[in-house]
Amino acid sequence: MKITDIKATTVAVPLEAPIRHANGCHWGRFIRTIVQVYTDEGIIGLGEMGGGGESAEAAIHGLKSYLIGHDPMQLEQLFWKICNPTASLYNNRLQIHAAIEFACLDIMGKKLGIQACDLLGGTIRTQIPFASYLFFRHPDESGGIGGEETVEQMVKHALQLHQEHGFTSHKLKAGVFHPDHEVEVFRAISETLPGHRVRIDPNAIWSVEESIRVAKAIEHLPNDYFEDPCYGMEAMRRLKSRCSIPTATNTVVVNFEQLAACFRTDAIDVILLDTTFWGGLRQAWMAGVCCQKMNLGISVHSSGELGIQLATMLHLGATIPSLSFAADAHYHHLKDDIIKGGKMKYQNGAIQLPEGPGLGVEIDEDKLKQYQEYFKETGGYTYDRDMGRPDWFSITGTNERWAKLRV
Ligand SMILES: [Mg+2]
Repeated sequence: MKITDIKATTVAVPLEAPIRHANGCHWGRFIRTIVQVYTDEGIIGLGEMGGGGESAEAAIHGLKSYLIGHDPMQLEQLFWKICNPTASLYNNRLQIHAAIEFACLDIMGKKLGIQACDLLGGTIRTQIPFASYLFFRHPDESGGIGGEETVEQMVKHALQLHQEHGFTSHKLKAGVFHPDHEVEVFRAISETLPGHRVRIDPNAIWSVEESIRVAKAIEHLPNDYFEDPCYGMEAMRRLKSRCSIPTATNTVVVNFEQLAACFRTDAIDVILLDTTFWGGLRQAWMAGVCCQKMNLGISVHSSGELGIQLATMLHLGATIPSLSFAADAHYHHLKDDIIKGGKMKYQNGAIQLPEGPGLGVEIDEDKLKQYQEYFKETGGYTYDRDMGRPDWFSITGTNERWAKLRV
């Protein structure tokens, strides 16, 4: 089998409201580039990637000369063609590789009549549990949705998500307001939902000392883990020596060199695997095998995906035996998706592994066109700027420059 063409289409899909994080915010939409890989056997594979609020279309099309004629079943050759680690110093293509690799696994599954996870060893589970992923939000344009900042607003939001989707683990995206306010919000959410698990993630914005101070204030709660409170392996090692909550990261262990350093330094207890950051579903699965053999905790990270990448996360979650925690997904913040059948549904806080061959999802071509047009109308956005604070930018570890509460 040979790859005959690659098509990349950038789409913007609206969020219910802009969601805020330590570096800025998602401006009311996710920008994703949808990849379709065509073969000489008529099988089309699907991939997806993001670009920090920008289109990645040209980067995907730029790889055509490498990939036309490539056998999509040759995944190891694909990796070395596109992201040899020393060549990658010049042309960092890991995330582009991920999108192409998703499509190749989709093609292989469709060709063989098996699911993508079967190519990784098969299913351990078919219902993948998710955490609620709570964000402070700006109001949407109409002012009817979003705008949560206060303890009462955030608790109400957590309860709504629990009632609507059945989440029993709740992740607070912090690092926006002063840590004292965020600790108050976090504690109130936990106290309102007894028996549920919680986790907090300020995107590494706090200093080690601030992280230790927050740890002392929340360590009595049923924490899954303390996710990237401060930045860097050494910072996390210092924190871990002074904190009783398991440490977790999706920022400083995103490749195998860093994973080896993590084993050596014992800085981090739980690794959040991202099918894009690690360079593909198979790469993330391999990292999961390493973590399992070394007894590190494993969770699944979300980088703001639509249904194609979500499918890769479900296949990853389906096949890792020791998935220790509910996965993350921004998915419930989206208003729509570009896959056939509309958005996947949560039931009791979990999403069912798609049943079809390959990744198990198909593109709704009308939706793809609709949201391609929406991207053309609205354009990219700057992930590391806050639409409500145009002159502001974040500085990791400064313990100041927090957003002000409106009330
Ligand atoms: Mg994180």
